[in-house]
Amino acid sequence: MANARTSPQNTAGYTGRFAPSPSGPLHFGSLIAALGSYLQAKSQAGRWLVRIEDIDTPRTQPGADSAILTALESFGLQWDGEIWYQSQRLERYQYIFQQLRQQGLIYGCQCSRKQINDGGGIYPGTCQQLGLSAEPLAWRLCSPAATGFTDLVFGPQQIDTALAAEHYVVKRRDGLFSYQLVVVVDDWDQGITQVIRGADLLTMTSRQQHLFWLLGAAAPDYGHLPLAVTAPGQKLSKQNHARPLQAWPLTQSMAAALTVLGHPPPAELAGAPVSELLAWALGNWQLRQVPQQLEVRCPDFA
Ligand code: GLU
Repeated sequence: MANARTSPQNTAGYTGRFAPSPSGPLHFGSLIAALGSYLQAKSQAGRWLVRIEDIDTPRTQPGADSAILTALESFGLQWDGEIWYQSQRLERYQYIFQQLRQQGLIYGCQCSRKQINDGGGIYPGTCQQLGLSAEPLAWRLCSPAATGFTDLVFGPQQIDTALAAEHYVVKRRDGLFSYQLVVVVDDWDQGITQVIRGADLLTMTSRQQHLFWLLGAAAPDYGHLPLAVTAPGQKLSKQNHARPLQAWPLTQSMAAALTVLGHPPPAELAGAPVSELLAWALGNWQLRQVPQQLEVRCPDFA
């Protein structure tokens, strides 16, 4: 039995994470993902890691990483261990890329985005037999993923067959590794046991699970959270200039995020400091209460 001098034991060995891209400050949509993954980890006495996904350097905004970290701290979302930065792990990604290439799972592709979009948007494998090697080329992984998986929040999922089979880019024509590759390598290397994140990545999950399998690693479980939108299909994101959260009272933002996550704070906590809201949420958190809703309308203040 635990006594007062021991910290909670991570008996399940749970390790979760929040993996923001530093293309702008924390906004309401990313608060939902941060809070949901934090509560899921901490309610099981697990570890909660933060990883800065700065692989896409042209979209990285200087200072956004520290703005995000400061915002997390102001909500009381304290991470465990060191923060990882993808920009510092290029050698590791290159090693994995070479391994997959040696296994004959990767080929060079010279098709433009326009050509692919004109053909319907799903890459049809045009360059697979060409044996291209003269850069610049995009590099694609040719190994079909499963068409289904079970999500911790949304339950059994069916993925479009063409999407699951698509040969997707793992290294871009500009030499940058793609999110699809590095997210798996990082989740693997950080020992992530459960990924809780926004529902915009639901359909990418079977791809990521499949890549774990190709690498000979056990995939984590995945659960997805409702995505904050300004209008149907319009993701609240740094790209569409979502307002940073600092402009609003913390307590209002946190109460709204908890409500989206199916945990509306009780009336007596109205206006309570974020530390009290967080303590209440930790004591009441149940992943099964998160609504099976892909999108939620943002509150007006976000
Ligand atoms: N970096 C991604 C984002 O900010 C999240 C990736 C993930 O959670 O797998 O949208």
